[in-house]
Amino acid sequence: MAKKGFIGEFKDFISRGNAMDMAVGVIIGGAFSGIVTSLTEDIISPILGLFGGINFDRLSVNILGEVTLNYGKFITAIVNFLIMALIIFFIMKAVNTLEAQAARLARLGNEQEAPAPTTKICPFCKSEIPIDATRCAHCTSELEQS
Ligand SMILES: [Zn+2]
Repeated sequence: MAKKGFIGEFKDFISRGNAMDMAVGVIIGGAFSGIVTSLTEDIISPILGLFGGINFDRLSVNILGEVTLNYGKFITAIVNFLIMALIIFFIMKAVNTLEAQAARLARLGNEQEAPAPTTKICPFCKSEIPIDATRCAHCTSELEQS
């Protein structure tokens, strides 16, 4: 009974589509993290080393014999995080801009789909006539300007 409930819940979870989105996100995130790590370790760190003579990864302090604090690696991790956060910030900004543009285009589309009416229905013969007609072309009844 409990097992069936669990499987049912799991099926709901999978079929909702969120699980697939999440899996794609995790896979892309993992690959993305690799790119950012490589960017800092293989490109930014060597450039910093060129100008400052520092290799962050090798920065460490010996505290007790063999025990070292590899604070350089910690700095690299923080730089990785900041770069990742910056890139995600730009992506979110671009997505927000695109969404705003899409919303504006959708609004414009709706306005074009529903233009102001140019005709009205004659109250006497129920025929369609121009909106500013003062006399019906079909039944010749005089009309009040609306
Ligand atoms: Zn009429």
